[in-house]
Amino acid sequence: MLGHSHALSGLAAGAAALPWAPVEGPVAQAAWVAAVGGFAMLPDLDHRGSTVSDMWGPVTDVPSGAVGRLAQGHRWGTHDAVLAPLAFGALAVAAASAFWSSLLLLSLAIGLALRALHFVIPGRAENTVVGNLVLSWGGAWLLLEHSPGPAWLPWAVALGVLTHIAGDAVTTQGVPVPLVWLLRRCRLALTPLRTGAALEKAVLAPGFVLATLWFVYANTGLRQALDPLLHDLRALG
Ligand SMILES: [Zn+2]
Repeated sequence: MLGHSHALSGLAAGAAALPWAPVEGPVAQAAWVAAVGGFAMLPDLDHRGSTVSDMWGPVTDVPSGAVGRLAQGHRWGTHDAVLAPLAFGALAVAAASAFWSSLLLLSLAIGLALRALHFVIPGRAENTVVGNLVLSWGGAWLLLEHSPGPAWLPWAVALGVLTHIAGDAVTTQGVPVPLVWLLRRCRLALTPLRTGAALEKAVLAPGFVLATLWFVYANTGLRQALDPLLHDLRALG
């Protein structure tokens, strides 16, 4: 799927997982949903030219070459439904133990979420390397000041990565058969849907947006806040 659909599917998954997410209060809930959306683009770090490798210029492009070699090519190691969430999750656990590495991880999540949501954000700053760096590092700094050491980051990473892999599994290119591909390169494709096909743009992407809105409404304080209001409106009418 396109980076953009991956991010939208991540937002929907993050919002759906809110009842089990270790976050409290609207700020942490919003950060959780945005982070899962951003991390749902992480597995494409295995190939130069993807949204994630272009994001911060050489800062993300050079590591992406290394990730690609380590993962044995595009859509292999980072797209293994068992290994990838574990490996990325373990990296996130290691990063969460120190302030600077949590800052890096959270900035990456915010940067990716901004890139993914550029169509609803006014202006174009988030799409430039410098603008994105300033916004994402500034945002991460503020969030960490607000809630130090977010223990939920590794879970957001793992869920985002898993959502990405599920998304690619429904395209013709498919994903590697978990673990088995290490011995014999074989792939799993659930449908013949082409990446970027009309169905993806016309049905899946809007579906993810609606699902996100619904789950945010159902799983946060919004429902309790809005329901009495809707009730009053109905009583008036
Ligand atoms: Zn992918």
